[in-house]
Amino acid sequence: MKAIRLREGKERSLLRRHPWVFAGSVEKGKADAGETVRVESHDGRFLAWASFSPSSQIRVRAWSFDEAERIDAAFFQRRVQAAVAMRERLAIQSNGVRLVHGEADGLPGLIVDRYDDILSAQFLSAGTERWKDVIADALLAETRSMGCTRLYERSDSGVRQLEGLEPAKGWLRGEGNTTITLREHSIQLTVDVEEGHKTGYYLDQRENRALFARMVRQFGCKSVLNCYSYTGGFSVAALAGGATEVVSVDSSAPALARASAHVTLNGFDAAHHTALDADVNGTLRQMLKDGRSFDAIILDPPKFAPSAAHADRASRAYKDINRLGLKLLKPGGLLLTFSCSGGIGAELFHKIVAGAGMDAEVDAYLLQRLEASSDHPTTICFPEGEYLKGLVLLKR
Ligand code: SAH
Repeated sequence: MKAIRLREGKERSLLRRHPWVFAGSVEKGKADAGETVRVESHDGRFLAWASFSPSSQIRVRAWSFDEAERIDAAFFQRRVQAAVAMRERLAIQSNGVRLVHGEADGLPGLIVDRYDDILSAQFLSAGTERWKDVIADALLAETRSMGCTRLYERSDSGVRQLEGLEPAKGWLRGEGNTTITLREHSIQLTVDVEEGHKTGYYLDQRENRALFARMVRQFGCKSVLNCYSYTGGFSVAALAGGATEVVSVDSSAPALARASAHVTLNGFDAAHHTALDADVNGTLRQMLKDGRSFDAIILDPPKFAPSAAHADRASRAYKDINRLGLKLLKPGGLLLTFSCSGGIGAELFHKIVAGAGMDAEVDAYLLQRLEASSDHPTTICFPEGEYLKGLVLLKR
């Protein structure tokens, strides 16, 4: 077993069970991509078993902090089993569930979503790439009882480049139709694991979509603007809550086509929904010029800040859309505004939205703070895992 020796003082994060070691913390030692290494402190004490990533800034990702543990097929089976068992205890009322959420489940670089009988997985690190076959077998073995028989790989995310890995996409186990129907609370949504974003869909907003449906009903919202709508999850939720004039805005034509199909799939009147293939920022400006206003607005943009280094530019972009959104909202209207940027913390996001309110000369009650659904857990040792944050505002 190859050893990776850390510089003096650099053992601290692993001792706190944080799973990453950056390149600059390594004193000496080399291994192949994804190879299991023994990580040691400067004086040779065991810190972790980990996978080595020669071309990534995150040079080492810990598999285990237990010196007695072996990193083998049984290890991956145990980790997958624990992750699946945790989701079972959450008793999520849907056939779409995140089963493995990377570091939080002790499997750095692995994301697995269940879409009915299909598992859709991202192998995003050299370590998960190396153990791909073993992990695939473990995943199917541990989910057979819930009816999963097929595994589709969606390792076509840009972050693979940072690991020196090529994109990869296609069936790993099983084959056939890539589209399934998701049941989420009272609504149905189709997901194509081949063509959809990320693993196919955004399961992290499941509970927030359900909350939105309830709020639309409670506050009697009729007109709803869903910005960055993707396939219209929040739009269908709005219709389910009693809205009668819903506008979905997205720059992806296939996503919007699916959004429109979802309206009728759920038995709602197509005349109550408009799909706008356009840039959100420009659309908000135009709507303001046209004197439009809405009872409720969703702002769920893509990641503006992939890392803290992009925080400044991203802050301005968030502020701008929130300023426009607050202006377009009727008094007494609801704004659900989100950021999924890891580089923007909850406190900073709140400040940005407060700044937007100042610029818009709008005050609002902060009704609720939102986060990702509980099947996208964070752990106390890995704060970086907390990425999705949202605010529910009620315009005064
Ligand atoms: N709220 C959605 C998920 C949104 S993901 C849900 O609940 O499923 C972000 C979406 O923003 C993607 O669908 C992407 O196509 C879209 N997007 C990215 N940049 C955009 C822009 N400038 N204008 C409009 N849409 C954009």
